[in-house]
Amino acid sequence: DPRKEGIASSIRVVPHVPKGGIMFQDITPLLLDPKVFKDTVDLFIERYTGKDISAVAGTKMCRALRILEEGIEARGFIFGPPIALAIGAKFIPLRKPRKLPGEVISEEYVLEYGRDCLEMHVGAVQQGEHVLVVDDLIATGGTLCAAISLLERAGAKVVECACVIELPELKGRERLKVTPLYVLVESH
Ligand code: IMP
Repeated sequence: DPRKEGIASSIRVVPHVPKGGIMFQDITPLLLDPKVFKDTVDLFIERYTGKDISAVAGTKMCRALRILEEGIEARGFIFGPPIALAIGAKFIPLRKPRKLPGEVISEEYVLEYGRDCLEMHVGAVQQGEHVLVVDDLIATGGTLCAAISLLERAGAKVVECACVIELPELKGRERLKVTPLYVLVESH
């Protein structure tokens, strides 16, 4: 699909961010180009329309960037909500600890740049509900694994994970085990 080439070329690689040796994949140039931004969301919508998915769960983008600058998390949840609206599904925010006001269930996990925890409101998902998990990037797969366990502990079925970017060398895909992963571009 030629749209994927436009997406790949709109991702900026920033070397040594947030620390030496890391090639940080920056999707903000993609968001600045309305055509490429729309192509990205459309590719997911085309794949998931009519697939009996009643919820889209999103983790926040640019977790790594928050190491550089606290408070950047308001930029998150970029790809999940437009996909959810287009396919007629609800959107479930998966958040960092102490961000959700109600009763939560949480899942601790280890990731590329440290250790973290995801939380979801109790009752956000129903027993047996089919959920799609969306994130901007899969590195080690730790974040998506935590999202999957959180949702499955709450009784949902995660039918697929969808990311804009995969870093295949980090083998995150293997960590997801039985849950399928769909990505638009690979970065080596
Ligand atoms: P994982 O848990 O190791 O798969 O890391 C994925 C999570 O970290 C996602 O939520 C990403 O937003 C974030 N992340 C890791 N590396 C990058 C990067 O190079 N660019 C943007 N986000 C990243």
